[in-house]
Amino acid sequence: MLKETIKNFVGRFFAIPAPRGPERLARDKHGIDRRNVSRHAIKVCEVLHQKGYKAYIVGGAVRDLIIGLEPKDFDVATNATPEQIRPLFRRARIIGRRFQLVHVVFGQEIIETSTFRAPADEGDQVTDEHGRILRDNLFGTHEQDAARRDFTLNALYYDPIKEEVIDFHRGVADLKNRVVRMIGDPETRYREDPVRMLRAVRFACKLNGNVDPATLAPIRKLAPLIKNVPASRLFDEMLKLLTCGHAMKCLQQLRELGLLQGLLPVIDDLLDHPDGEHFIALALERTDSRVRTGKSVSPSFLFAALLWQLVNKRWVDITAQGEHPIQALVIAADNVIDQQTRTLAIQRRFQADMREIWFMQPRFERASPRAIWRMLEHQRFRAAVDFLQLRAEAREVDSVQAQWWMDLANADSNTRIQMIDEYQRENTGSSAAKSKKRRRRRRKPADSSDVAAG
Ligand code: ATP
Ligand code: MG
Repeated sequence: MLKETIKNFVGRFFAIPAPRGPERLARDKHGIDRRNVSRHAIKVCEVLHQKGYKAYIVGGAVRDLIIGLEPKDFDVATNATPEQIRPLFRRARIIGRRFQLVHVVFGQEIIETSTFRAPADEGDQVTDEHGRILRDNLFGTHEQDAARRDFTLNALYYDPIKEEVIDFHRGVADLKNRVVRMIGDPETRYREDPVRMLRAVRFACKLNGNVDPATLAPIRKLAPLIKNVPASRLFDEMLKLLTCGHAMKCLQQLRELGLLQGLLPVIDDLLDHPDGEHFIALALERTDSRVRTGKSVSPSFLFAALLWQLVNKRWVDITAQGEHPIQALVIAADNVIDQQTRTLAIQRRFQADMREIWFMQPRFERASPRAIWRMLEHQRFRAAVDFLQLRAEAREVDSVQAQWWMDLANADSNTRIQMIDEYQRENTGSSAAKSKKRRRRRRKPADSSDVAAG
């Protein structure tokens, strides 16, 4: 009796958790409708089950299915090793050097299938001086695999055969309450991988929820660690964040937590100015509404818009120093892209598209009919016209003119001929006058207010 009382007392004070297995939730508790699950992901699980392995759909897909969002993609976790998985499927390849996983390919869909992994403190992890994991390549048990995931709501496993969700960390409850809670000690987990700070913000915004206070608390202090993450990885995570459907809210939260300075310092500064903020807000609203209506978002357009205010400002400054406007725009673009890629590496192909979108802007101002036809053939013409519309919304260019270009982009070839003929008739007199004026002005430093409008 006394022994029992002491045990209770000690237990309550030191909160020794009773060992318990994961919760297993039946369909009526998790609510996933199997019809919304990728049949290819189900197939992968079935094949692995038939061979005697464990296999579950895991991560973002389970999270999204439970709250009624459409998952972007489906991942599977299993206790089979990559060598055991590959021969079971007709089209499967092992990828990755650091941690191998298998891509099982079904037409357009790839089911990423990975072997359960051990968490950071269980193996021969190599970390940098801040605790960031540089290598973790140890297979583990199902329970270990759950423990090494970031948030409780991302550590859910769906068994499509039993239609059961396996929950080691009370993730379903957190998900239903829209709370983003770190598994384990938040500070340690952010040190292991500072990208988790961005992910916390993204999931809270995407779910219209909150980051749990203990999970939120260390972020401000640890924000500078984001600088140690490779710039290419930051680009991937930032792109996910900007295309999660709640981009402006995410950016604002990143800013409040001191995370934006290490990622997009340029944008952090712009948000201090009402004009800069207005343009970014417009661009992100557009992106959000495209994402929410299931349309694709082009990373080049997005980054072109985010950085435009700065490019435009430099363009004006460089032109005012006497540079030819077209050359000034090239220098301004190079400048801004160089500065930005130091923190967050925008891939080269996106950089090339961004430049094209920017360089086409002054051409909308004074194009000859021949130039218009050439522009129409340009691969980025459509994106550049969209961009012009964005600038018109921000009252940077004339909205009637922007609409004319949009109509031209949407028109069939006969209508285009008519529109361009009409344009030529209307502009013949004035364009001759303009070109004379331009020729005369060339030797003088450019008028900066004129360039700012273009
Ligand atoms: P999204 O819907 O944006 O793809 P996601 O949760 O699926 O969100 P992924 O980056 O695809 O995100 O990762 C898949 C899963 O891998 C996550 O749900 C999580 O369990 C785990 N994971 C991803 N990144 C990390 C990380 N940095 N630390 C720990 N676990 C992670
Ligand atoms: Mg995912």
